[in-house]
Amino acid sequence: MQKFIILLFIGLMVSTAVQAKKQSKGGDPIVVSPESLDRSVMSYVEANVLATMYHELAHALIDGLSLPIFSREEDAADTFVVVITDHFFDAEQAEQLTWASADQYARDAEEAEKKGRELAVWDTHSLDLQRYYNLICLYYGGDVDARDDFADENGLPHDRARTCEEERALADASWGAVLDDIKRTQAGPDWIILDEDVDTLGNSYVLAAQAVIRQEVARLNERFDPEFEIKVVIENCNEENAFYSPGEGKITMCNELSRSYVHD
Ligand SMILES: [Zn+2]
Repeated sequence: MQKFIILLFIGLMVSTAVQAKKQSKGGDPIVVSPESLDRSVMSYVEANVLATMYHELAHALIDGLSLPIFSREEDAADTFVVVITDHFFDAEQAEQLTWASADQYARDAEEAEKKGRELAVWDTHSLDLQRYYNLICLYYGGDVDARDDFADENGLPHDRARTCEEERALADASWGAVLDDIKRTQAGPDWIILDEDVDTLGNSYVLAAQAVIRQEVARLNERFDPEFEIKVVIENCNEENAFYSPGEGKITMCNELSRSYVHD
């Protein structure tokens, strides 16, 4: 009987964690909020577009500044997303952005499982659910007292939570130093050039996502000034993707990827 109660309790805990991951924050969009669009859908699209852009920006910085990276570059780029998010946004906005970005990984993992896809353990990226927990952990580690509920709501196990503050301190020391080094101190030419295709796949959220990218490029140009130039290209790619091309110093943000973040 006692065993049964314990098993029931464990089962409840697992289902609570899964439910917590799906809980919608329904926050307001941070950068762009067209009246005609659903605000919480837009907020989700915006958060994911920004997180993706920051991830690609990390690749551009690693390349442009020849930064030493002692582990997988993809993990370093994911870490950068959390550091710059806290750098740019207040706690409420940063939480929404982190949650939406992590939630997309949880969705991707769920979809892959449904389709019976094998886990890509060979991939350069961490597995979707690892990326989910890494994001939650690093964000939580930025302020463990204030973000305790966030960690709980999103199912971060105590075994991992214990090291998040240290993990985050290392992330801040590493990426924070890079951001300090490239901080703009005087007016000058833009280091990011935007190249937009006019097509929006006939989707209002894609159009709004393009505005998010445009405004973010302006903000990055205003705040930072590294001694190299990159291009951000928004275009149709026939795939849901975003990537950095080292030879060309170019970040490509695909309209299809922005559209994939639209969940009703
Ligand atoms: Zn990457």
